[in-house]
Amino acid sequence: MSKPVLLWLRRDLRLADQPALRAAVDSGSPVIPVYVLDDETPRHRKMGGASRWWLHLSLQSLSQDLLQHDSRLILRRGRSEEVLADLAEETGAETIHALHHHEPWWLNAEKAVAKAGLDLQLHHGNYLAPPGSVTSGAGTPYRIYTPFWRALQQHMPPPPPVAKPRHIPAPSHWPRSDDLADWHLLPTKPDWAGGFRAEWTPGEKGAHERLNDFIDEARHYGEARNLPSQEGTSRLSPHLAFGEISPAQCWHALEDDDSEGAQIFRSELGWRDYAQNQIVSMPDYGARPANPAFEHFPWRDDLDALEAWEHGRTGYPIVDAGMRQLWHTGWMHNRVRMIVASLLIKHLGIDWRAGECWFWDTLVDADYAQNSVNWQWSAGSGVDANQFTRIMAPLTQSEKFNAGDYIRQWVPELASVEGDEIHNPSALVRHKTGYPEMIVAHVEGRERALGAYRVMKTAAG
Ligand code: FAD
Repeated sequence: MSKPVLLWLRRDLRLADQPALRAAVDSGSPVIPVYVLDDETPRHRKMGGASRWWLHLSLQSLSQDLLQHDSRLILRRGRSEEVLADLAEETGAETIHALHHHEPWWLNAEKAVAKAGLDLQLHHGNYLAPPGSVTSGAGTPYRIYTPFWRALQQHMPPPPPVAKPRHIPAPSHWPRSDDLADWHLLPTKPDWAGGFRAEWTPGEKGAHERLNDFIDEARHYGEARNLPSQEGTSRLSPHLAFGEISPAQCWHALEDDDSEGAQIFRSELGWRDYAQNQIVSMPDYGARPANPAFEHFPWRDDLDALEAWEHGRTGYPIVDAGMRQLWHTGWMHNRVRMIVASLLIKHLGIDWRAGECWFWDTLVDADYAQNSVNWQWSAGSGVDANQFTRIMAPLTQSEKFNAGDYIRQWVPELASVEGDEIHNPSALVRHKTGYPEMIVAHVEGRERALGAYRVMKTAAG
């Protein structure tokens, strides 16, 4: 029997449209799929708690799918290059197939794997177009989304999805695998994941069910996507983040839909590619402001305010609903993510990196590129960003996007507040329900933010 090849799975936990799996199978060699839980390669931050919950169930689902293909998923823990080198030695494998990943820690791990003398063959498949390939006429990366999106569309449609292999050749001996339960990815005491279980079905099958549910609704996406009280978006983000479905599969599933809604949805997938392209050219986007003037921003060190924000106790119902939805389900509506980010950075004057860190730990879709690009967009410090001085008024946003029922769902103490009062309950309602006063009034927060911005401008020269 020929030497086996390793299939190194990371955030590409699927069998269909998986070009690395396809290449491994097409090599004609037995294939050993492996997932390495790597908490050792230095990285921006270790995987957060919500992502670990998702990972457990996604690996479980992938294991079952592989068993149905007479294959297995080998689980190992440790530094990627060491684990892969050990596995190569144990099995006689010399080649590793994997999908490209662009986070700086993965690039480092890949270099170390190649340095260990292993033949690492990387394939594209997690983005609409290979990150770094959509450049301006001068060959430089796009900084601004709109020209990026225009150029990306010239590369579309993405290649048609690669079919799931019927059979995955197995090696004569399987190497040892860890037991998933021993990784302790699920919470025990307290078990905070009840709301997660009610909301999500991690795994490739769950991803396709979400996509199928969304296909019929896509034409309404244009209007519905900004309304937190409706389920108007696809909720595919964690499935995309873990690579249980590819963006090409999403694109092709909607290719006959020329409604405005479907077109806007495609452009949101374009944002995902855009964010990834930013970290390819600026790997420390999650740690440093892209606009260096923001190194001089006089951030406030206010732990009480940060904690009130994290736990949904700011006294702004739309913000508190969003933060509690996040805690309960591991996900938050995009419009509300923008509102809560703006309140933290501008009204509370807290460094965007504190918010980025909380989201990293609590989001099931936590993604290095998307999280840092969106936080820097909200802060005004990114390459294509909202102007810092355009300060969102949370109460107006709540009314404009009709968030009443959303608030009633996620802030139960306000569930019986009727009409428009839900957006800004009276002092009497707050007193009766125990719902807090606003942590800072809008006008005061706004003035303080603009003052801090002026200090930064002066300091930056
Ligand atoms: P849909 O509206 O159905 O969009 C489809 C897909 O397009 C999404 O699944 C996502 O992959 C992509 N997409 C949509 N909006 C954006 C966007 N603004 N930027 C990049 N891609 C987008 N998204 C993450 O996946 N991970 C994160 O860590 C993350 N952090 C964020 C932090 C902040 C402060 C903000 C404002 C946004 C963040 N987003 C992040 C982007 C966005 O909020 C989510 O992708 C979206 O809410 C996911 O829901 P959905 O799948 O229903 O999206």
